[in-house]
Amino acid sequence: MECPYCNKKMQLGAIEADNLLSWTPEGENKGRMGRIFRSDRSPNSVILAELNVFSGSTVKAYYCIDCKKIIIDVPVTEE
Ligand SMILES: [Zn+2]
Repeated sequence: MECPYCNKKMQLGAIEADNLLSWTPEGENKGRMGRIFRSDRSPNSVILAELNVFSGSTVKAYYCIDCKKIIIDVPVTEE
């Protein structure tokens, strides 16, 4: 993938967490407990990675070392 800011090639890597990994709009984050338990999280949260009992939560991400930007494709999940 090319960086949309500088058009250089981005490096593929992964973002990992022990629990659910999600993006939540500013001001809607309910703190640590809200991030751990799905029922407490904001309905506007975007889940980046579900918990995998073997490897924790992980999602592929592209990184531009020049621009200090990371781009993540949000996984398609069926609710
Ligand atoms: Zn860049």
